[in-house]
Amino acid sequence: MTSTPADARPPPPGGLTCEQVLAELPDYLEGELGAPTVAAVEAHLSGCPHCATFGGAYRAMVDLLRRHRDAAR
Ligand SMILES: [Zn+2]
Repeated sequence: MTSTPADARPPPPGGLTCEQVLAELPDYLEGELGAPTVAAVEAHLSGCPHCATFGGAYRAMVDLLRRHRDAAR
């Protein structure tokens, strides 16, 4: 009998791992994700302080770049 304790870990918030959330983040901020994925990402962000902090900083940077781009026209 071989049991792996690692399998006993609870599922990540939103059913997505941090890696998956970070991979989806650009599309999430661009509004290019489907509703189920958006819900999963938001569920993860509200349950994972690390991704919430990084996601917030990432979003602020994207907003800044967007404003800069618009202002340069
Ligand atoms: Zn996370």
